[in-house]
Amino acid sequence: MRILDFRSDTVTRPSPAMRRAMAEAEVGDDVYREDPTVNRLEALAAEMLGFERAVYMPSGTMTNQVALLVHTRRGQEVILTEGAHVYEFEPGAMANLSGASPRFVPSPYGVPDPEEVRRAVHTSPHQAPTGLIALENTHNTAGGTVVPLEVQRAVQAVARAAGLPVHLDGARLFNAAVALGVEGREVAAGFDTVSICLSKGLGAPVGSLLLGPAELEGEIRRYRKMLGGGMRQAGVLAAAGLIALTEGPKALARDHALARELAEGLVRLGLDVDLKSVQTNMVFARVEDAPGFAARLREAGVLINALGPERVRFVAHRDLPDEAAAEALARIAPLLG
Ligand SMILES: *Cc1c(COP(=O)(O)O)cnc(C)c1O
Repeated sequence: MRILDFRSDTVTRPSPAMRRAMAEAEVGDDVYREDPTVNRLEALAAEMLGFERAVYMPSGTMTNQVALLVHTRRGQEVILTEGAHVYEFEPGAMANLSGASPRFVPSPYGVPDPEEVRRAVHTSPHQAPTGLIALENTHNTAGGTVVPLEVQRAVQAVARAAGLPVHLDGARLFNAAVALGVEGREVAAGFDTVSICLSKGLGAPVGSLLLGPAELEGEIRRYRKMLGGGMRQAGVLAAAGLIALTEGPKALARDHALARELAEGLVRLGLDVDLKSVQTNMVFARVEDAPGFAARLREAGVLINALGPERVRFVAHRDLPDEAAAEALARIAPLLG
């Protein structure tokens, strides 16, 4: 029985083309800015997404946390959407590194009301001052949901009016772009900084990029080094990243179709799936005992993650075959009987 691994799009392995590019990559010391492959990746990402600069880092946690370090001062608040990765899944880094605390705004389907964001901005001396506003697109814990571009623009206008910077956690920015039928640069537009992941659905083994203006580049590189993200001959990784960035986005529509097929099938089997939240490559289902449900599926060769006591997540990605949804549904059906 072949294993169908729906735990995450991070399980994708480098393709044969990536392996070849990695083996042949021209390299140098990237901390000295002498790795031609990293330099090419950074230049391409910046150009594709409409930014002056991009800086390559080992993970999306690091790109997000470097952005927080660059934008905030100790004791400030960061306005976040409920369930934001920056806070929930980056083990206390915000408090530990930036000394900032989160202020969550209600965000059904990952989408905040810009008016609520405006009301969450603090200026009173009795409250922690706001230092940054951050969005996440697509929004992971909300279901891989897409934040509409007009909402992004309205939140950016709130930030500008308040004199605040605005960051996008765009770990899955290209999933949002594909779902919206726009270029990645349109999703990235209007933010001071954007972080993207090459190692999720795009398929690179490692790597994220933090995009920003030239004036922040020095600070971004200084904090990257401080956190231990100054890699040396990183071109062996960036070579795969270049393929992920150029070829990866084209393949995401298939992943979205796979997730949709799976979601509709799970609903037919009687599972509690909010189809409205199935907008990209993720499917969340509400079950009575999430760890128990995940364990039973594992016996049937279907790997998923239990996210909380009553929530499981299926993620579609490039390493799953076209028949993955049909095959998973056929294996899950008898378990529900
Ligand atoms: C995966 C992810 C990240 C980065 O995670 P790393 O595992 O550190 O690369 C950031 N934001 C979101 C929304 C993510 O899903």
